[in-house]
Amino acid sequence: MDFRPTEEQALLRRTVREFAETEIRPHVREWDQTQHFPAELMPKLAALGLLGIQFPERYGGAAMSALDYCICIEELARVDPAIALSVAAHNGLCASHIALFGTEAQKTKFLTPLARGEKVGAWGLTESTSGSDAAGMRTQATRDGHDDNVWVLNGSKTFTTHGRVGDVFVIMAVTDRAAGTKGISAFIVEKGTPGISPGKKEDKLGMRASDTSEVLLENCRVPGDQLLGEAGQGFVNTMQVLDAGRIGIAALAVGLAQGAYEAELRYAKERTSFGKTISTFQAIQWKLADAAVRIEGARWLTYRAAYLKGQGARTTLESSMAKLYASEIAVKVADDCVQIHGGYGFVKDYPAEKFFRDVKLTTIGEGTSEIQRLVIARQLLSRS
Ligand SMILES: Cc1cc2nc3c(=O)[nH]c(=O)nc-3n(C[C@H](O)[C@H](O)[C@H](O)COP(=O)(O)OP(=O)(O)OC[C@H]3O[C@@H](n4cnc5c(N)ncnc54)[C@H](O)[C@@H]3O)c2cc1C
Repeated sequence: MDFRPTEEQALLRRTVREFAETEIRPHVREWDQTQHFPAELMPKLAALGLLGIQFPERYGGAAMSALDYCICIEELARVDPAIALSVAAHNGLCASHIALFGTEAQKTKFLTPLARGEKVGAWGLTESTSGSDAAGMRTQATRDGHDDNVWVLNGSKTFTTHGRVGDVFVIMAVTDRAAGTKGISAFIVEKGTPGISPGKKEDKLGMRASDTSEVLLENCRVPGDQLLGEAGQGFVNTMQVLDAGRIGIAALAVGLAQGAYEAELRYAKERTSFGKTISTFQAIQWKLADAAVRIEGARWLTYRAAYLKGQGARTTLESSMAKLYASEIAVKVADDCVQIHGGYGFVKDYPAEKFFRDVKLTTIGEGTSEIQRLVIARQLLSRS
């Protein structure tokens, strides 16, 4: 198995890094403090192909590989994890769901403007009473009594990335309550459709520049040709979307940890205590060494999952392993980053405290660490 980055991938990394340093880094603190979703950044991300990373060129995408995708997300997260989260949710959840299960007409109409970055994508699975237990959702879609070719959606979604700023929503809803997980379907809903509206904007611990809100659905009439995938297949398809999406969150965690590691390394070489730089103390050196090893391990687990996905394999096990490990080491690296900064790790003049706040999302979003362990154990037991 060879998934070492190529020369083109090294160039891609340099390009995205330079972009993040010049276009994102100067604004990170302000966007975080004001919870500002930088819509003004979208055309610039689009110009680099970052809003249609893996989609075919005929749908406006950049036709990059799964490994390229990881590199892009990593480099964005190294500078601002909140921007990486938005890019990952747009590409890896909304647009990816349409690319995987949409009809030709749906891909032309909805995927193309998403991949070109003309529209922002959102994906609504989670509800206020069902997150890990996603199949317990309450949002319902029923056929209109008068027009069989129209679905009427009622309910609400919680914690939707781009819930307020999204243009194209993929919404999961129950179409046959008695059928359990086989009774959930996915729908494409456009902003401006009567009956869909943003609810409460969340005031978050971290990832504050990434828009997160409720989405309300009140007698929202959706044309039959916006049913995404087969009726009743929405939940099964969602699990496949998440297999790929989790590789993106793993890459985000790797990039975030890399950013935190670089910050702590820099600080350790600058800060003096007892007449020496703190990098000369073994206690600090061990933290640096552990961080470097952890990041490298997480990076290769993530690249392995991406490589296998690129080969067309089903990666439920590998994606969950990468997501679990990368997010948990990232929490540890971000924690040590604050510790190495001492009191300066606790204030906003240094990047440590933001990494510490942002990182927690990686063990929660797209399935918590507990759910990843459950998925991994199920996979292992069913294979043995
Ligand atoms: C910033 C942000 C962005 C998000 N973006 C999106 C988005 O775009 N679209 C979307 O649909 N969702 C999104 N989410 C929702 C996210 O996926 C859920 O928060 C996550 O899946 C957990 O669900 P929950 O919050 O309901 O927690 P719960 O499911 O209530 O879990 C609470 C705790 O119980 C544990 N637990 C639950 N069940 C089990 C079990 N069977 N075994 C062991 N432990 C268990 C969990 O691990 C957790 O520790 C986002 C969340 C955040 C915070």
